[in-house]
Amino acid sequence: MIPVNEPLLNGNEIAYLTECITSGWISSEGPFVRRLEDGMAKLCARQQGIAVANGSVALDVAVAALGIGAGDEVILPSFTIISCAAAIVRAGAIPVVVDADPVTWNMDVALVEAAITPRTKALMVVHIYGLPTDMEPVLALAVRHNLKIIEDCAEQIGQTYRMVNGEVRAIGSFGDIATFSFYPNKHVTTGEGGMLLADDPDLISRARGLRNLCFGEKDRFRHEELGWNFRMSNLQAAVGVAQLERIDEFVVKKREIGRWYCEELADCRDLEIPPAQTGYSQNIYWVFGLVLCDHVPCDSKDIMKALGERGIGTRPFFWPMHEQPVFQKMGLFTSAQCPVSERLARRGFYLPSGLSLTRDQAHQSARALLNCLSQLQGHKA
Ligand SMILES: *Cc1c(COP(=O)(O)O)cnc(C)c1O
Repeated sequence: MIPVNEPLLNGNEIAYLTECITSGWISSEGPFVRRLEDGMAKLCARQQGIAVANGSVALDVAVAALGIGAGDEVILPSFTIISCAAAIVRAGAIPVVVDADPVTWNMDVALVEAAITPRTKALMVVHIYGLPTDMEPVLALAVRHNLKIIEDCAEQIGQTYRMVNGEVRAIGSFGDIATFSFYPNKHVTTGEGGMLLADDPDLISRARGLRNLCFGEKDRFRHEELGWNFRMSNLQAAVGVAQLERIDEFVVKKREIGRWYCEELADCRDLEIPPAQTGYSQNIYWVFGLVLCDHVPCDSKDIMKALGERGIGTRPFFWPMHEQPVFQKMGLFTSAQCPVSERLARRGFYLPSGLSLTRDQAHQSARALLNCLSQLQGHKA
């Protein structure tokens, strides 16, 4: 079986974990937590990092730290992970979805302005799979309508964006708060873990408080607000520090995997292959996603099943927020029109693309896919 994702843990991970054990520092008070926070802040040119338990709760903290609550609307892509909409709904605010761009699969920036109302408080931008959201128009909208930006960068650690004036900025440098996940399929992993980045001292201290039960500043056990225990342990951070040391190498490897698949699949007429670059960025291929062309007479489900039988691990694309049973039951998104997201969910899937993937495994996966496509179409023709 070729797994859909296998992380690469052969750097200083063991040495740093050993240091945690021998020193006795295993809780969130240990020194690796601050080292990981500083390392991530440096990577994205931000003032501070706030390490948390995972990327989903990073979004909860971001929404809460920005003071988003009842009656507020937050605009986000329909084509994303549930954590994004969940954070908004749990805060008592209203998520408003925007459809995906058919080429980059990110929120279609041209559709955002029409979704803004007097109640809109923030834009939750999510950089999906390999290409970032086109940030300059988003920044302009945020300024014009006085909106906050939450930037979910979970899938694009180490990615950059080139501004119209030529300046190259890190993904994660745009949002009032940027959030990250360190799940094992992300470019930097801590097993489970997450991070917020921000510049504003007030936001930073709010996020730090919310992460840690909002302990009192003067009297520890007197609380002005409710927080959570979303702390990251020193053990997790130790793995993250070892991983982050290799981010440049990891990004190179991800792009190399993307090139392998592009070469292998270049002649296939049944697949929409994501562009290697846009005017502002180069694809980082968090995962190597593909979309079945309309003439292919089956959905990605059938292709994934056939690939599984050939020992190739795959995953479907996200299921759009406006089609989630849990949100439909809440009466949300009743008027959402997101045909692109609906198509991506049904026609998209991704191939094995973890950092441990070898050239030969990519070759085998691509051959198996081409083989499945011709067989499935042969049988149904
Ligand atoms: C992985 C991911 C998350 C959630 O991260 P967890 O650490 O798994 O909670 C949030 N947003 C995006 C875009 C992700 O890909």
